[in-house]
Amino acid sequence: MEKTSKRLEIMSIFQEIFTRDDLVEGNKEHVHDKIVYLCQGKLYPDFLGRPELQMAQELAKRAIAQATGFSPKTVSDLLKKSGDLGNTFGLLKQKGTQSMLVSHGKDLSVLDVHAALVQIAGMSGADSQTKKVRALAGLLGRCSPVEAKYVGRFVDGKMRLGANDLTMIEAIARLRTSGEGRGADGLDAETLKADQAANRAVIERAYNIYPDLGLVIKTALLDGIDALKRFQPQINIPIRSMLAQRLDTLEEFPAKHGGSFACEYKLDGERMQVHKRGDEVALFSRRQEIITSQFPDVVDSIRRFIVAKEIILDGEVVAVDRGTGRLMPFQILMQRRRKHGIEEKSEEVPTRVYLFDVLFLEGKSMLDAPYLERRAAMEGAIAHAPPQGKVVPVPQRIVSTLDELTAYFNQAIKDGTEGLLTKSIKPESVYQPGARGWLWIKLKSLRRGKLPDSMDLVVVGANMGEGRRARQYGTLLVAARNEDTGTFDVVTRVSSGMDDEKAEWFLKNLHEIPQPPPHVRSGETPDKWVEPSIVLEIIGDEITDSSSTIVDFSIRFPRIIRIRDDKSPDDTTTVGEILAMRGGGDA
Ligand code: ATP
Repeated sequence: MEKTSKRLEIMSIFQEIFTRDDLVEGNKEHVHDKIVYLCQGKLYPDFLGRPELQMAQELAKRAIAQATGFSPKTVSDLLKKSGDLGNTFGLLKQKGTQSMLVSHGKDLSVLDVHAALVQIAGMSGADSQTKKVRALAGLLGRCSPVEAKYVGRFVDGKMRLGANDLTMIEAIARLRTSGEGRGADGLDAETLKADQAANRAVIERAYNIYPDLGLVIKTALLDGIDALKRFQPQINIPIRSMLAQRLDTLEEFPAKHGGSFACEYKLDGERMQVHKRGDEVALFSRRQEIITSQFPDVVDSIRRFIVAKEIILDGEVVAVDRGTGRLMPFQILMQRRRKHGIEEKSEEVPTRVYLFDVLFLEGKSMLDAPYLERRAAMEGAIAHAPPQGKVVPVPQRIVSTLDELTAYFNQAIKDGTEGLLTKSIKPESVYQPGARGWLWIKLKSLRRGKLPDSMDLVVVGANMGEGRRARQYGTLLVAARNEDTGTFDVVTRVSSGMDDEKAEWFLKNLHEIPQPPPHVRSGETPDKWVEPSIVLEIIGDEITDSSSTIVDFSIRFPRIIRIRDDKSPDDTTTVGEILAMRGGGDA
């Protein structure tokens, strides 16, 4: 899989893996889900918030030294040369095996590897570091060289298989079509395509409601695609957030919505999905990560002010001024992202939760209810909501003319918001998990660059700076997601907006790799390639033709606005979306 960048080939490898008949191990356990997690580079779906394997390279180095008998210095030297734990592990196992220093057992199974990694991830306490090293050395001892290579990759947090969630979903969607009993042979190309699209829609819907790709794929393969249709929202399982399209001028909104529509303030905070059952409250981020422990104040206010027994709510948490209660910008809220001193910070930087939707209520899914019904149910669930309260419905107004829209937009800006989110109130205005459709359309006021919107791009490479910045990165190569090829294509270099604080942060958080992964495409070679994992919000003035990028365009005057650690590379702006901004009008 690693050797190819062709999406079709990667998919067919997945199909081959998932249809093997030896995916039942141990005590009849099906391991499809574990394979998915390992390919994703994790041990569990994110929302469980269980400990992942966060092991420092130093410890990993000690483990491979123990497992192979090579000195720590040999390991370090090799790591410097190969730049990658996976290659280092693989090579050392190879050498170790050749010199008969170690032997490796046969038949290391998926369950063995997953269980060993889970055990290591869960180790804590006094001598946990030594225990972790010993346990990893034990696992490596049982690995063949090629197995050791991928265990190394996993420990390093970089599987680099070019396999993202969408590729796996597509592989399964196609598989079912040509699967047992449904023989693709007799079908004409069009029927086949429609069938695959229908399968994909079912898988995606299930995944959007239950973001555990392992479980979704396992269910599809063992119980059939139709079993996925029965997936419903559940408390403590985060639903993927509905997203908004964008229009650039107020004039376009009334026609696009057709008739009256709802306008809501667009708050500049962090998306938050609230799950409550009795007194139990769980909070999830836009990436479906559990963030409950960061917001003890929110948990407390949800318990006090939400009257429903069982409910899933969607909203935005915003920092407010301690004295005046006024809205504070996103940067202030970010001070709440921390592991220690949470209680003190929550007093220093208080928050308010603005709710705008309800997805589940008293045992029933609300996803298919139209907007107005959901809005009423959401308002009804809040016990006491003075405008300056801790939990409030987002300010909203139904408008039908351009004048009404303009007036409300101006008021929203005056009140310190980012602008408006407009929402359809038609009978078909359902909540679409994970989708960016035209039922919700945003309008932002802050045209800090001349392009109509900022872009979220993933860093894939870096050039060293000059002078004072000689030891830091000076420019970064950033890439957009190409929907057609499944690759990340570099669209520009960016250096402006890189203050000292950010430069320091990049130095610590960008992980150098010797080669770009196969799914990264760039027209130029930077000083350093880096793991494509960090997403930046970037503004620019214009989309211009360029012969130096793969995509034949570039961005003029790009500037870094902020680091979007609430976004994953899969959430980046697409090449198509950037092209659509070309020549975008003025708001
Ligand atoms: P997106 O979430 O659409 O990918 P983004 O994170 O860059 O993009 P924007 O495009 O600016 O954010 O706007 C959408 C986001 O705005 C939502 O994800 C949510 O966090 C926030 N938001 C603020 N107010 C509202 C509201 N009333 N309704 C829905 N979302 C809102």
